[in-house]
Amino acid sequence: MLVTSTSDAETALAADLGKSAIESWMTEIGFTIGQIDHALDHLDHWARPRRVRLQMTLRPGSARIVPTPLGLVGIIAPWNYPLQLTLAPLVAAITAGNTAMVKPSELAPATSAFLADRLPAVVGDHVGVVTGGVEPTSAMLEHRFDHMFYTGGARVARVVATAAARHLTPTTLELGGKSPAIVTESADLRIAARRIAWGRFVNAGQTCVAPDYVLVPRHLRDGLVQHLVDAVGDLYGPDPSASEDYGKIINTHHLSRLVGYLSEDGAGQIVIGGSADPDRCHLDPTVVIDPDPSCALMTDEIFGPVLPVVTYDDLDDAIAQIRSRPHPLALYLFSTNDDQIAQVTARTTSGGMLVNHTLLHLAAEDLPFGGVGESGMGAYHGQVGFDTFSHLRSVMRRPMRPDPSLMYPPYGPLARRLLRRLF
Ligand code: NAD
Repeated sequence: MLVTSTSDAETALAADLGKSAIESWMTEIGFTIGQIDHALDHLDHWARPRRVRLQMTLRPGSARIVPTPLGLVGIIAPWNYPLQLTLAPLVAAITAGNTAMVKPSELAPATSAFLADRLPAVVGDHVGVVTGGVEPTSAMLEHRFDHMFYTGGARVARVVATAAARHLTPTTLELGGKSPAIVTESADLRIAARRIAWGRFVNAGQTCVAPDYVLVPRHLRDGLVQHLVDAVGDLYGPDPSASEDYGKIINTHHLSRLVGYLSEDGAGQIVIGGSADPDRCHLDPTVVIDPDPSCALMTDEIFGPVLPVVTYDDLDDAIAQIRSRPHPLALYLFSTNDDQIAQVTARTTSGGMLVNHTLLHLAAEDLPFGGVGESGMGAYHGQVGFDTFSHLRSVMRRPMRPDPSLMYPPYGPLARRLLRRLF
């Protein structure tokens, strides 16, 4: 479907999010084809029973972990990468042998219609597509699923988890949060700025793992900000609204939310961007300095093209600022100092961590992708995705003989002594 209908998929993604064809390919269509190819290449290995060593006391015998399909899984997807985030979990679910009911986001109607039109012909009776918003999703959640996989915000995640709990259905929750980018003295500021700007402004900032705010040493703040301003110009030109490579905000509701953040008291000073065009759901790539820690820009997940730059005194301070917030989905560190990298790795928690770039860890085929705490639970991609949608069944086998009477009562003094030693 993705190979034969690439241009229809591109058209849908352009209509929903103003994505350029190349961005759609890199982050959605080609990305998903890559996941499918990877699954096809490795499925035999993932699905094979996994032999486990038995300890002496249980020998002779053998033990295996046998991946078993769960049954029917529910997949509820968000609007920001509406194709990838519907299909990548579906690939994992089907590879593991399940049937699925998928619910693309109603906020990306063109992509949702594309999937509803095309998927049934490809996956037949194995997959049902549910379209629409809260009402059909609520009806879907009444069903008993064997696994529920939800991607989206934490508020609806609680609705989904509550509905799943009624049936004791296990859930994977792929959520978001405020993913920090720490820049240190050892980083090349120009390269760090370009990588952060790319990660923040791709898909007009509507990326769950986008760097949500930057932490920079006080004395390097102005230098980094200048490089960020230059990077925005290099990536999207003097007028980003005219750039083919810059997307749009999903709808006017989200645009006014973002504009509201910027106009709030304490939102800080805009150094580049800030202008919006409601008719085209456009907001320029925006960099802000000196935001008040209590303003919405610094308390909510921004999920749009706005990048606050915040200062820190030393690494302890940067780590303390991160630890004062819920665990983020991603943490980015720009450093070439092994000790700093070890410190930040050991003293923070996040869904994933990437040193010296942004977003790319998500594309590593065999790295599990998922959050921790408020950024989610469970993970997928590669074998971890296969396992998420499998029951890892323990199967042990014993020969009929020998059958020593030692392990059965009545236990005489010798048996008790031996059993105490053996177990
Ligand atoms: P959304 O509004 O599209 O909602 C997600 C899904 O929930 C949709 O399919 C929607 O129909 C359904 N839904 C909405 N309200 C519902 C209700 N009351 N009951 C049942 N279902 C309901 O997406 P969103 O929440 O705006 O997504 C943005 C959030 O998702 C951000 O926090 C972002 O970080 C996170 N996100 C996470 C990932 C990830 O992979 N971890 C990826 C993308 C987005």
